[in-house]
Amino acid sequence: MTANVADNLKSVLNLIPKTVQLVAVSKYHTAEDIAAAYQCGQRIFGESHVQELEKKQATLPKDIIWHFIGHLQTNKVKYIAPYINLIETVDSFKLLKEINKQALKNNRIIDVLLELHIAQEETKYGFTIDACRKMLTEEDWKSLKNIRICGLMMMASHVDNQDQIEQEFMTAANFFDELKEGIFAHDANFCKRSWGMSHDYKIAVKCKSNMVRIGTAIFGPANLSI
Ligand SMILES: *Cc1c(COP(=O)(O)O)cnc(C)c1O
Repeated sequence: MTANVADNLKSVLNLIPKTVQLVAVSKYHTAEDIAAAYQCGQRIFGESHVQELEKKQATLPKDIIWHFIGHLQTNKVKYIAPYINLIETVDSFKLLKEINKQALKNNRIIDVLLELHIAQEETKYGFTIDACRKMLTEEDWKSLKNIRICGLMMMASHVDNQDQIEQEFMTAANFFDELKEGIFAHDANFCKRSWGMSHDYKIAVKCKSNMVRIGTAIFGPANLSI
């Protein structure tokens, strides 16, 4: 397995433009697999489970840039607050406030993305576009000094229909532009568009993604026993 990680990583990097950041999604993969990608120069890794991330973060090199990409419960923010580099999955104002609180306790600023729910699947989390716009216009997020909203994240529906996937990505891209021309017009930090996974990242980069989150295409199928 590990032998392939280097080759897979190179193939993926060859297929995405240099302006697109690659998050190597290492959930359900071993520290050895992460180390193999790290040896090739990969530094950004994405994890979805707090406990799994905790274990890996403790043992792996400290210059790894960790992104949290799973559903985050407010009571678990405190565990990752000391070191997390980007929380990609903020889906409520309550969670944003808790991240701010824990960031303050750790005397740091935590970068976050707002997760959008655009896909036609109940299983996915995130703000609807209307709810996100409402939160940004009504709620007092600007008083949260220890978080920085750096952009948007979303997952497209898990379907074969390329047009539908493209449509969902473009909905996110257009909403990003709306915010970039409005609420975030004078905020250089608001610049990240995180969409695209193993099965749809080639479409995502055509739809203005500048951050793709790729697991299976690099590490192979999930190893559910770890
Ligand atoms: C698991 C996961 C990915 C990576 O999915 P692959 O299909 O393995 O590339 C990307 N984003 C999120 C939010 C995930 O949970």
